Amino acid sequence: MLEGVERDIPAFSSISTLLAALTLVLGGAVVLSGRRRKAYLAFIGLCANLFLWHLFCIYRSSTALAYLALGCLCFVPVSLLAFLRTWLGENRSQESGILLGVPRSVWVLLGAEEAALLYAYTQRAYPHSFWAHVPSLIRVLTLVGLYAALSPLLHAYRRSMSRVEKRRLLYLLGVGAITVTAAAIDHLPSPYGSGGPATGSLLTIVYLYFLQQTLFLDRLLDINELLAKVVVLSAFVLLLSAILTLMTLIGVEQKQVVTLVAFVILILYEPLRNLLEAQVHKWTARERYELKQHLGELRNALTNIIDLREAVRKVLSLLEETQRMTHASVYLVDADGAGYELQGHFGPRPVERLDAAARRPLLWRLLATRQPVTLEQLERERQSLAATGGATAELENLDAIGRTLLELHAGVVIGIFASTLERKETERQGMPWPAEEEPWVPGETLLGLLCIKDDRIPDPFAPDELERLASVASQLGITVQNSKLYERMKERDRLAALGEMAAGLAHEIRNPLGAIKGAAELVAPRPGEKLPEDAADFLQIIVEETRRLNRVVSQFLDYARPLRGELVLVDVNEVVRRTLLLLPQEARGGQNPPAEIQLALMPDLPPVRGDPEQLRQVFLNLALNALQALEAGPCAPGESPRLTISTAQRRGRNGMQVEVRFADNGPGIAPSTRKSLFIPFFTTRERGTGLGLPISQRIVEHHGGTIEVRSRLGQGATFTVVLPVEEAPPTR
Ligand code: ADP
Repeated sequence: MLEGVERDIPAFSSISTLLAALTLVLGGAVVLSGRRRKAYLAFIGLCANLFLWHLFCIYRSSTALAYLALGCLCFVPVSLLAFLRTWLGENRSQESGILLGVPRSVWVLLGAEEAALLYAYTQRAYPHSFWAHVPSLIRVLTLVGLYAALSPLLHAYRRSMSRVEKRRLLYLLGVGAITVTAAAIDHLPSPYGSGGPATGSLLTIVYLYFLQQTLFLDRLLDINELLAKVVVLSAFVLLLSAILTLMTLIGVEQKQVVTLVAFVILILYEPLRNLLEAQVHKWTARERYELKQHLGELRNALTNIIDLREAVRKVLSLLEETQRMTHASVYLVDADGAGYELQGHFGPRPVERLDAAARRPLLWRLLATRQPVTLEQLERERQSLAATGGATAELENLDAIGRTLLELHAGVVIGIFASTLERKETERQGMPWPAEEEPWVPGETLLGLLCIKDDRIPDPFAPDELERLASVASQLGITVQNSKLYERMKERDRLAALGEMAAGLAHEIRNPLGAIKGAAELVAPRPGEKLPEDAADFLQIIVEETRRLNRVVSQFLDYARPLRGELVLVDVNEVVRRTLLLLPQEARGGQNPPAEIQLALMPDLPPVRGDPEQLRQVFLNLALNALQALEAGPCAPGESPRLTISTAQRRGRNGMQVEVRFADNGPGIAPSTRKSLFIPFFTTRERGTGLGLPISQRIVEHHGGTIEVRSRLGQGATFTVVLPVEEAPPTR
C-alpha cells in the first residue's frame, strides 16, 4: 500500500527538503526570540514535529523512513491541539486528565496508533494481510484528528464576546480547515491528488507563518494584516527569483549569486516591508472604515451612559470596530489620586497600574499641553534636540515619557480631563483648585488616560483624527464626572431611606421586646417561690424572640453599611454551588415532603466582576425565600415541591449578561404583595424581617445588575439575578 503510492515518486524529494528547511526556520525564529512562555514552547514543539515529518519524507525509497514519517504524522494533530489550547488559554493546569495540554484519552489513542504502526512495520512482508492497510488507516485518522485539533479555535470563537475578535478567530479557523483539506488532497493517490507534498504542504507553511506572527505580536491578526503579509512575502519571493534568474542568465557564478541575494535581502527587507504593508492598509482599512464616523457615533453614545464600566466597554468595543488600531486601553484615576488603574483594554494586556509619582513626566506633559502625546512626535523632538545639542535633562525627560508609553503599549496617549464644571464644584466645596503653574496634582484634573496604538504602520493617526479621539476622551471625562455625581446622589438617597427605616426598625424591635418582657415577668419567681411549671415554654419564647431581634438588627446593619470590598472576577457557577452547601438543612427538611433542589448550571459561563461573599448572600436569600414559600406546598396538586436554580448567558442591551434563576413551584406572589416587594421591612411571613430582598437588590445594583421577578398567583415564582459580564479576556 505504502509502496504503491510512492512508486512514481523520485527517491529524493526536494520539496520535502524545502518544507523541512522552512519549518526549521519558523521554529528556529521562535527559539531565537528567547521568549519561553508556554505557548512559545508549544509552537516550537509543533514545528519540531512537522520538521521531523518532512525530514523522514525526504528519502522516500526507504520503507523504514516512510514508516517513521507516518509515526511523526500521527503526532501532528496532537501537537497542533496542544499548541492551540495553550495559546488560546484553554489549557488550565489544574484540570485533571490533561497531560501537556492534551486530554489523556488523545494520548492513549496516539499510543495505540504508534503501536499498530510498529506492528504493521514488522508485518510488511505480507502485503495481503490486514496490517498492510494500517498506514492508510492512520492517514485517515490523522486527517480526522487534524480537523478535530482545530476545535479550540471554535471554542474560543463561541466564548469570545468581541465581534472583531470573533471575526479574526473565524478567519483562522476557516483558513485552518482549508489548509488541512489541501494537505489531505495532496496525499490522495493520483490522479485526484498530487501524490506527494505540494500545494497543501506549502499552505501549511504559510499557515504556520501566520500562527507564528500572531504569537510574536501577541494578538490576533486581521484579514488586511494577513493580506499585507502575503503581499510582502510574495513580493520577496518574486524579487529573489527575478534576481536569481537574471544572474544565472548573465552567467554569474552560483556562490556570488547567493552573496548578492543575501545583500539584497538585508538592505531591502525593512523599507520594502514597511512600504508594502502601509500600502495594503491604505487600500483595505482606510477606505473601508471611516474613523471619523465611528468616533462621532461613539461621542453620541457616551452622552447617554452613566455607568462608568459600561462607558469604558463601549469606548473600547467601538474603537476595536474601527479596525484602525491594534491596541487600546483606558486608565482611570484611583480613589486617592496616587495612580491610574487599568479599566479595560484590547490587544496585549498593558500594565495594571500607573503610579502618578513615578510617571510624572508623561502626566505633567499631558496636563501642561492638554495635547495627545505620540511616540512619533517624541522621536521627532528627540532628534531635533539631539541635533541642536539640547539639554540632557530634556532628553532624559523625553526618554522617560517614551518608556512609559511602551509600558502602556501605547503609540498615542490622550488625557481624560475633568471639565470646568468639576472645577467649579470643587471650588464651591471650598477646596482649592490646582493653580495652572502647579499642574502636577494629576488626580484632580487628569481623570484618566486613553491609550491607543496601531503597530502595523508608522504614524498611523492624522492630526484631525487625533483631535477627534481627544474629543471622545473629553466626553469620557464628562461620563466619569457624571457617574461620580450619580454615585453621590445614590448614597444620599440611601441615607435618607435609612432615616425612614429607623422608624420601622424601632417598631420591629418593640414588638419582640414586649413579648420578651411579658415572658420574663411570667417566669420570674416571687421571693420564696420556685420556677413555674411552664417556665420552659416561656424561656423558649425569650430565646426565639431574642434570636429574631438579633436577625433583624444584623440585617438592618447589612442594609445600612456602605458596600465596599474589592470586586474580582467571579465564576458564578462556583458561587451557586457554594451557596447550596450553605443552605441550612432545616430549610430543606422543613416540608413534608421536603423540597427538591435542582441545579442546571451552564458550563463555560463567562466571569462577572463581583464580590463572591456578597453574591452568595444574595443567592442564599433568594433560595431561602423560595424554600420558605414551598413550605406551603407546591402550587399544583400532585407535584412535588421543587426549586430549580439555573445559570445562563444572554445578550442584553449593553452587552453580554449572566443570569441566575431561582424558580420555585410554590404558591407564587399575590399582585398586592408584588407591589411591595423590595420595600424594607415588608414581609408576609410571621417570622420574616422583610430585609432579604432589599439587601439583595442593593448588592446586585452595586454589581451593575438587576433582579427580575416573574410570578403569577398559584403558578410559582421566579427571581432572576442578571449581572453584566466582564469584558472579553484578550486572546494571546
Ligand atoms: P422575608 O423573607 O424576611 O419576608 P424578603 O424581603 O426576603 O423578606 O421577602 C419579602 C416577601 O416577598 C416575603 O415575605 C414573601 O411574601 C415574598 N416572597 C419572596 N420570595 C418569594 C417566593 N419565592 N415566593 C413567594 N413569595 C415570595
